[in-house]
Amino acid sequence: KPGLYIVATPIGNLRDLSPRAAEILTNADVIAVEDSRVTAKLLRHIGIRKPMVPYHDHVADGVRPALIARMGMESVALVSDAGTPLISDPGYKLVRDARAAGIAIVTIPGPCAAVAALTLAGLPTDRFLFVGFLPSKAKARGEAIEEITAIRATLIFYESGPRLAATLSTLAEKLGDREAGVAREISKMFEECVTGSLTQLAARYADASPKGEIVIVVAPPGIPAAASAEDADAALAEALTRLS
Ligand code: SAM
Repeated sequence: KPGLYIVATPIGNLRDLSPRAAEILTNADVIAVEDSRVTAKLLRHIGIRKPMVPYHDHVADGVRPALIARMGMESVALVSDAGTPLISDPGYKLVRDARAAGIAIVTIPGPCAAVAALTLAGLPTDRFLFVGFLPSKAKARGEAIEEITAIRATLIFYESGPRLAATLSTLAEKLGDREAGVAREISKMFEECVTGSLTQLAARYADASPKGEIVIVVAPPGIPAAASAEDADAALAEALTRLS
């Protein structure tokens, strides 16, 4: 059916593409993409070829009206290079304008690195703030972090390897030494989630520029540090002496 289909795609492991996402892509008339080479790989995985049109928020003011006109007659799928479109990825203005034009809009939910990292880190999940990428300039980064110091929610940041160490130490300096997690390469062969206090993590990554894609998750203010394995052993030993 004509309309806009927002299709979440894998963040690493191609088998995370849902059957419904594959079906929508297979039936779409055209796919709006960030990078046609990346999407072509995904389409090869499900054994299809489709017309693709490039779509980016920054260059799309010219493309958008034509794409929205197409949605009135054809099914247009929107994908990004990885994960859920619109989440630190292009698409919000396309959805806004499609909605204003009365286009049918359907979302096909699926992987999102922010939520996947939140599930790995073992930090409170009842309230969280997705911060996305911090600004690249040091002053603006510091200010962006200061704005959120008092927020009583787990904080989720997207980051790259080369900037990880600097970001962790700025976070420790501005937020205090909170518990945190660094989730890397989620759903890929070298997936890991390293947890600890922000200063421990900053020290661990001080001279490293880890490869791959990274999400930093930081506990809300005032959450006590998680018990370490040694603490748990000591508590168990103490409980056993009381029982005997
Ligand atoms: N739309 C995507 C989503 O739903 O997560 C996010 C796109 S954003 C341009 C890319 C950033 O997401 C990366 O720099 C990294 O911070 C995070 N990311 C994407 N894939 C990841 C993965 N497999 N493991 C860890 N972080 C990932």
